Amino acid sequence: MGYKVMELVCIIGAGFAGSVVARELAEAGRRVHVIDKRPHIAGNAYDEYDAHGVLIHNYGPHIFHTNSERIFEYLSRFTAWRPYEHRVRAVLDGKTYPFPINRDTLNQLYGLNLDEAGAAVFLERVREPRDPVLTSEDVVLNSVGRDLYEKFFLNYTRKQWGLEPSQLKAGVAARIPVRTNTDDRYFTDTFQAMPKDGYTKMFEAMLDHPNICVELGVDFEDVRDSLRPAHLVYTGPIDAYFRYCYGRLPYRSLRFEHAHLPGVQRFQEVGTVNYPNDFGYTRITEFKHMTGQQHSGTSIVREYPQAEGDPYYPIPRAENEALFQRYEALAAREKNVTFVGRLAQYKYYNMDQVVGAALAAAKQIIG
Ligand SMILES: Cc1cc2nc3c(=O)[nH]c(=O)nc-3n(C[C@H](O)[C@H](O)[C@H](O)COP(=O)(O)OP(=O)(O)OC[C@H]3O[C@@H](n4cnc5c(N)ncnc54)[C@H](O)[C@@H]3O)c2cc1C
Repeated sequence: MGYKVMELVCIIGAGFAGSVVARELAEAGRRVHVIDKRPHIAGNAYDEYDAHGVLIHNYGPHIFHTNSERIFEYLSRFTAWRPYEHRVRAVLDGKTYPFPINRDTLNQLYGLNLDEAGAAVFLERVREPRDPVLTSEDVVLNSVGRDLYEKFFLNYTRKQWGLEPSQLKAGVAARIPVRTNTDDRYFTDTFQAMPKDGYTKMFEAMLDHPNICVELGVDFEDVRDSLRPAHLVYTGPIDAYFRYCYGRLPYRSLRFEHAHLPGVQRFQEVGTVNYPNDFGYTRITEFKHMTGQQHSGTSIVREYPQAEGDPYYPIPRAENEALFQRYEALAAREKNVTFVGRLAQYKYYNMDQVVGAALAAAKQIIG
């Protein structure tokens, strides 16, 4: 189609941010044109059956979890769910331990037999109190002390972010709890589930509306000068929108190494196993745990963090946030443009948070 589309709302990106805004505006009677430079919808949550018939997450494991009933109900309009609680183990010196650190981790690692109160006393004894708690190093040392920091966090952080924990804001490590009970779930949110038929199917249902038209394989950069929408919703990287006029915002990228193991029913005991201290990859995920799929083989993915490549993670550091704020000030001056999503807001958002941000953005556009 041509791009003389005065009456349209144009949405750049068909991930959670773009698709939720598209649906909301379509239901409010607006005509919506969504473009994405990738050949598929669903953004980083995209999943598909691999060549061996196993449902995989192309861009790494995506586990839906939220405490917001409103957001869970909203997505439930587009999918049924499969209850799923994610579990993670970490391998140290060839032995496997529950992660996040809980009482079992401490007992197994140190050959102890602590009860809940004993675990609290243990952590109190080993922790290195920090005040103020500013960085990720502060957070971890303050809660579990140096030995556990070095075993579980230090090298993992170096691999994942290419930075020392002392160079990352506190919020990164604060995402990971430490428990004195034996709860070995990765998340403790009220709602934890996977879309029953996968994320892509959920996005297909969300975008299936007579007022929504989706065009894939189109880069905003190639068409922006011919776009004349009544309103633009941009969910790509904010620095790219402004043609990097203040320089590039740093993002962390990943290389995903997918593999299929024919004839292997189960590769590992839980969905994700972390390798903090060995190998170039941070973790291995086996998808059948999450999807519940029955198959004679199994498919896994290894994640290799890297500096170059698709932007996946905004890097939470004070100087990056300062640079983002300069772009944000430019964004505030753009007329009839809404910036929403993980890349446009340069925030380490989970899926549910992006849905929340997108619902709020749509409400504002509808006025
Ligand atoms: C490895 C990994 C694991 C994750 N695991 C979880 C998890 O377990 N649970 C959880 O809640 N969250 C998880 N997340 C976060 C989750 O992926 C994001 O919160 C969510 O996908 C963000 O949605 P979005 O729409 O903001 O961005 P995206 O999904 O990145 O969508 C943006 C879209 O915009 C398109 N785009 C960008 N620039 C242009 C352009 N110039 N022209 C056209 N299109 C463009 C992109 O192609 C993309 O499809 C994970 C993220 C990663 C990277």
